[in-house]
Amino acid sequence: MDLKDYKIGTLGSHSSLQILKGARDEGFRNIIICEKGRSQPYRSYRIADEIIEIDSFKDIVKLEQRLIDENVILVPHGSFFSAYTDLSALNASNALYFGNKKILPWEENREKQRDWLKKAGLKLPKIYKTPEEIDGPVIIKFFGAGGGKGFFLAKNPAEFYKKIKETENKRHIIQEYIVGAPIYVHYFYSPLSGELEVMSMDKRYETNVDSIGRISAKDQLDLNIESSYNIMGNIPVVIREKFLPDLFSMGERVIEVSQELEPGGLIGPFCLETIITPEMEIYVFEISARIVAGTNPYINGSPYADLRYDVPMSTGRRVALEIKEAIESNQLEKVLG
Ligand code: ATP
Repeated sequence: MDLKDYKIGTLGSHSSLQILKGARDEGFRNIIICEKGRSQPYRSYRIADEIIEIDSFKDIVKLEQRLIDENVILVPHGSFFSAYTDLSALNASNALYFGNKKILPWEENREKQRDWLKKAGLKLPKIYKTPEEIDGPVIIKFFGAGGGKGFFLAKNPAEFYKKIKETENKRHIIQEYIVGAPIYVHYFYSPLSGELEVMSMDKRYETNVDSIGRISAKDQLDLNIESSYNIMGNIPVVIREKFLPDLFSMGERVIEVSQELEPGGLIGPFCLETIITPEMEIYVFEISARIVAGTNPYINGSPYADLRYDVPMSTGRRVALEIKEAIESNQLEKVLG
């Protein structure tokens, strides 16, 4: 089978525009699955070869046979978790899937994720087991809170108890709050070449932490504004070059450990969410084991991708390139899971 026998497909949301364009640029037909009434961007940008509309992403299971029959390789992104409500539903799908599903439980479960990153020797914010231990700034994170919704800060047990009560004691963790510059590093690991690439970086644009400075401190207090972290968009970042060697070795260790955790390890794009302190320490507070929306500013390539590739190489296109090279060298099984 060759390129023409496959299609690259994804769900219409998150980072699908670059996945579609990247597939086309590498010579694939592409297919996008949209929720009814939400397909206009894909038509307007003339980026999709086929558009399928379904009532809700959850109905993707009804398309399963068609996806299999047409050899559609699904490229997962953040919105896949609204389609497959849990990992067992995703595992039950027999559609072709780019990446290694075995690694997903290591991302989904906070404790497993911490083990993984710790084994990779990364510096992680401290986790407080009980509120009584709070002895400095902490961030309280809820489980399954996509995009930091509802997270709050506290600096002592009393403040914690007051604020957690307002959330009706939702399930949470208490994490050391690191004061520094958040930088999200977008990696790509190729199982074909065994090489790790740094594709790009971003910082997030979150409401209201990123806009609170527009209001005077007095008004912030008068209006009783609490910081919140609802992500609205992403802003490109280029890091001081002196940090690059460390970022490469951090990513390489994450890949090495992933291969010890599960056969095949992590495949393709992933992101380390870091905060760099004034003392130049790089803390990692989370890993996303797939393409992240922070790569969206780089549909036309990033300064880093521009160094390595002669064509505009988005992360979406890099995925398609990997699939193409796997097909051409008869190693497709190495990139699907
Ligand atoms: P997503 O799953 O989309 O990555 P999330 O709900 O897991 O989002 P986080 O990314 O963990 O949320 O955090 C949301 C925000 O909180 C980010 O702006 C991040 O910079 C900030 N943040 C998270 N953890 C820390 C920390 N330990 N110290 C300082 N800031 C933090």
